[in-house]
Amino acid sequence: KMTHNSHSDWISTILVGDSGVGKTSLLVQFDQGKFIPGSFSATVGIGFTNKVVTVDDVKVKLQIWDTAGQERFRSVTHAYYRDAHALLLLYDITSKTSFDNIRAWLTEVHEYAQSDVVIMLLGNKADMSSDRAIRRDEGERLAREYSVPFMETSAKTGVNVELAFTAVAKELKHRA
Ligand code: GDP
Ligand code: MG
Repeated sequence: KMTHNSHSDWISTILVGDSGVGKTSLLVQFDQGKFIPGSFSATVGIGFTNKVVTVDDVKVKLQIWDTAGQERFRSVTHAYYRDAHALLLLYDITSKTSFDNIRAWLTEVHEYAQSDVVIMLLGNKADMSSDRAIRRDEGERLAREYSVPFMETSAKTGVNVELAFTAVAKELKHRA
């Protein structure tokens, strides 16, 4: 329910996952429709981007928070879990470590986020199929285990980026 943030109709969505999985790139692709190569190492702590998504002729106002994935920032992030209506959880399909760490991220989420938070699992860098370390069905299986939707995305080519955010907006709208 969109009650905890009643002073605003912006819906708080946060991007989480290990450093380097492409959180900032995904947000830049969604916001600006382009891929800017290179690491956004300047991302310190948390920043946000506002985007309006139209779902069935209804405007859903997403306030998307980009987090830094480093362990040292996790204590900063906890406060944001509480207010989040939705959560995009990312791993990198070329990084087994980032995939294995999804369980740790989900443990955090279940500890700090609202129980009705909308969660979506994303396997990013889908364009890098020759370096793939995690099969699509492994992503699907993990998502099924936690009963969350799953997609593979590419912040580089833009594949499924709009779709992922729209799917989240749709789910939020249905729950509102
Ligand atoms: P963050 O730490 O999760 O915010 O990750 P970044 O957005 O900074 O991306 C980390 C690195 O991965 C950068 O070099 C990006 O250019 C690259 N990257 C991010 N997303 C993709 C993607 O979908 N495909 C490819 N090929 N590279 C990506
Ligand atoms: Mg970043």
